[in-house]
Amino acid sequence: MRRKLLFGNWKMNKTREEAKAFAEEAKELDRFAKAHNIDIGVAPTFLSLCGVRKVNPDLCVAAQNCHFEDHGAFTGEISIPMLLDLGVTWCLIGHSERRTYFGETNEACNKKLKALFANNMTPIYCVGETLAEFEANKTKDVIKEQVLVGLEGLTKENVKKLVIAYEPVWSIGTGKNASTTIAEDICGYIRELVKGVFGEEASEEVRILYGGSVKPENVKAYLGEKDVDGALVGGASLKVESFRQLIENIL
Ligand code: PEP
Repeated sequence: MRRKLLFGNWKMNKTREEAKAFAEEAKELDRFAKAHNIDIGVAPTFLSLCGVRKVNPDLCVAAQNCHFEDHGAFTGEISIPMLLDLGVTWCLIGHSERRTYFGETNEACNKKLKALFANNMTPIYCVGETLAEFEANKTKDVIKEQVLVGLEGLTKENVKKLVIAYEPVWSIGTGKNASTTIAEDICGYIRELVKGVFGEEASEEVRILYGGSVKPENVKAYLGEKDVDGALVGGASLKVESFRQLIENIL
């Protein structure tokens, strides 16, 4: 039985104090979610990772990116051992904003996924098509490439621990949700792709999230779908009250 997962992506939002205040308030929220078999987590900026971890060590905390090398001449980058040094064990990889604004490729995502698993971390690998690709009926082609290249060379055991987030680019931060039918169709397709390469057991264990304008009002409908195990949430994860409503509304 796959545990439900709700993850907040804070993007480039919140000062260290604001992030710590959220983490403090979220203590009770985390207990409440766990009591209902739901895992919750947040992905703050690098600067707030340490503070959030210290204030609320029970909350899952993810970095929003990492480099695949342990150290070296990569100005501006943060490595996996540096994240582990802060006790951070989760990391988003391949978010569409990283792909669009920072040229992140499926091949680079693959290197990062391998490096994260080599360090026993849990990646949340983001995939999704652009509006032009959606309108040209290319969604499944794009997803197939992102999944097969991104997961190339991983083991079955890796994939069992992996989280994949299907986030249609046209629905991120736009208020235009993909219908629950689209979300289930693509999340189910991702599970089939995983099954084809890594076998049934891995495909039954990998957690697949939907992301894109998820709000308290629509979260229950997505999580009611067979292959949607949770949500990656941007805007609606920034306030504790809204996060609380997300959890309450899926019960
Ligand atoms: C995201 O940033 O991954 C996201 C899904 O954002 P939003 O919920 O604001 O669309």
